[in-house]
Amino acid sequence: MHDVLIIGAGPAGLSAARWCDELGLDTLVLEAAEKVGGQLLSVRNPIENYLGVRAANGLELRDRFVEQTKDCDFDLWTNVEIASLDLKAKRVLLRSGEELQSIAIIIATGLRRRKLGIPGEDEFIGRGMIESSGDRSAFAGRDVCVIGGGDAAAENALLFAEVCPTVTLVHRGKKLRARREFTEALHTNHCITVFPESVVHRIIGTDRVEAVEIERAGSIKPFQMAVQGVIVRVGFEPNTELFRDQLEMDGRAYVITSSRQEASVENVFAVGDVANPLAPTISGAVGAGATAARVIASRLTNKS
Ligand SMILES: Cc1cc2nc3c(=O)[nH]c(=O)nc-3n(C[C@H](O)[C@H](O)[C@H](O)COP(=O)(O)OP(=O)(O)OC[C@H]3O[C@@H](n4cnc5c(N)ncnc54)[C@H](O)[C@@H]3O)c2cc1C
Repeated sequence: MHDVLIIGAGPAGLSAARWCDELGLDTLVLEAAEKVGGQLLSVRNPIENYLGVRAANGLELRDRFVEQTKDCDFDLWTNVEIASLDLKAKRVLLRSGEELQSIAIIIATGLRRRKLGIPGEDEFIGRGMIESSGDRSAFAGRDVCVIGGGDAAAENALLFAEVCPTVTLVHRGKKLRARREFTEALHTNHCITVFPESVVHRIIGTDRVEAVEIERAGSIKPFQMAVQGVIVRVGFEPNTELFRDQLEMDGRAYVITSSRQEASVENVFAVGDVANPLAPTISGAVGAGATAARVIASRLTNKS
């Protein structure tokens, strides 16, 4: 029996764990991935906006978070798969067969990149489907298609245009949603072609990605365009499948919380991006983790 089970070890979960430890709560953190850090692991840009620390990228900031929790007493299990959970009873069953019980649960499961759900998207992972702009040296000299119309898609198109002869940016809307500095740079870059009001129907290849099938507004029928790499940047969605029948959520399946980070079941809290903050940031996630820990501590031990 633990005082607190924390699900997810991104900035929000790690902050909650650090605070729970300081407040004397017996805490176990469950992380599905092999490594802690959540989205920080995919942040390649320098992080300048987390007060008190400048980091060259997300991994460096993650390492500092880990360093600062090294001497804490909380337990952290990675590579954990939750088979089922009962939020009212605060009981969690792991795929390994272990059953865990706590007084409070903090959900810190964050977001994942949204998929398109089209043929070829999963099939060609590691074989032309590009996970991250950090892999772009492997695509130097190759033609690439970027799908999406926001900041992440625009930024990736610009990054790949540094090493690729052609980059085609395909997006559904009439106009890009990306910030102005990106859209201006896109339109003046001779390697980049933008297809607005267009949809990719499938990713085609035998062993690796060889082409995409695109439908453009006004075109009579879809056509195939030869590319060797595809990167999808069509937004994020919350990791809330496990909790869907048990908690109140908004229309996009984010957990609804009070300003004390309480979810709709007693002694269940949601922190960080999974609780749909107005501004999803590292600072916000860290702050929400601290809030939940202090609310729990004040209820359980009056130590906050
Ligand atoms: C490219 C990029 C750049 C960014 N740049 C900045 C920036 O400069 N400044 C800034 O403030 N913010 C930035 N952000 C946003 C910031 O990274 C997020 O707001 C922050 O990581 C949210 O933290 P979190 O802990 O709520 O969620 P996440 O970081 O998403 O972590 C959630 C964790 O929960 C785990 N998990 C999910 N499901 C389960 C499950 N069922 N069981 C167990 N574990 C589970 C995940 O594996 C993950 O480790 C950036 C994000 C991206 C993608």
